[in-house]
Amino acid sequence: MTPEATKSPATLGAAVANLRARLSKAGFTDAAMEARILIGGLLDLSSTQVFVGGDRVLSDGEIAEIEKAAARRLKHEPVHRILGKREFHGLDLLLSKETLEPRPDTEVLVETLITHARMLERRDLRILDLGTGTGAIILALLDALPDATGVASDISEDALRTARENAARLGLSERFQAVSSHWFDKIEGRFDIIVSNPPYIRSDVIPELEPEVRCFDPLAALDGGVDGLDAYREIAGRVSEFLETGGYVGVEIGFDQKVTVTALFADAGFELVEAQRDYGGNDRALIFTRPAFDVP
Ligand code: GLN
Repeated sequence: MTPEATKSPATLGAAVANLRARLSKAGFTDAAMEARILIGGLLDLSSTQVFVGGDRVLSDGEIAEIEKAAARRLKHEPVHRILGKREFHGLDLLLSKETLEPRPDTEVLVETLITHARMLERRDLRILDLGTGTGAIILALLDALPDATGVASDISEDALRTARENAARLGLSERFQAVSSHWFDKIEGRFDIIVSNPPYIRSDVIPELEPEVRCFDPLAALDGGVDGLDAYREIAGRVSEFLETGGYVGVEIGFDQKVTVTALFADAGFELVEAQRDYGGNDRALIFTRPAFDVP
């Protein structure tokens, strides 16, 4: 134990300062913000409450809980995984072992699809999310489109449980169904919108990912095979069987996959109707449709 770790800061302000110093010393770049989010999350305090509540005296139990969380963060476990929850597109979502931690970049895919969904000018849209994880994408869509219904697939029972629980906590269960399925295998019917944030990292790149991702996000949600495109091949290969005429397919992609993923969908008869970059300026979301004359 470091000398700092043996100190037991008795107030909220001291605990935040102590954790910030330890994270900063260990090389974490966002030490101040992380200390506030982690301790605020553990104590169920808003960021304002953390900011103004520095004098709050902590109980021994709270100090012990903060210490346990600090030890986990120092081993590179991401803050939101320690807290077991994360906000995505304004929704509070639970995370679990086999769910990818939802990223702000994925909100770009959600926003783009909401725009396209509204252009369909139908209220009772049917949405399919392949490899749903926490349910982040489809639950954000259902929340924004109050008459839409959704089906979400995943191969992980842990993820399906978490997605169902998230739907229930958000009051979306009646419009949401979670199905155990490898991509389209167990899916029935047609959908107006089909969406996925599949695993898309090349297998050989996985060892180079930062420990926060490599050690704590589930490998099955990251590893896209030798060229990173396995999941897109699966999806593009069958998507026309499940998409309504005039519907949209939206996928998240890796920063260098716009051309290759567009080519895979073009082979399946789809054209790219929109490409969006993420907050870092990287290509991140692609929306495809199938020209009507092409529908059997
Ligand atoms: N965006 C994630 C990352 O780079 C990867 C998610 C994915 O493969 N779908 O950490």
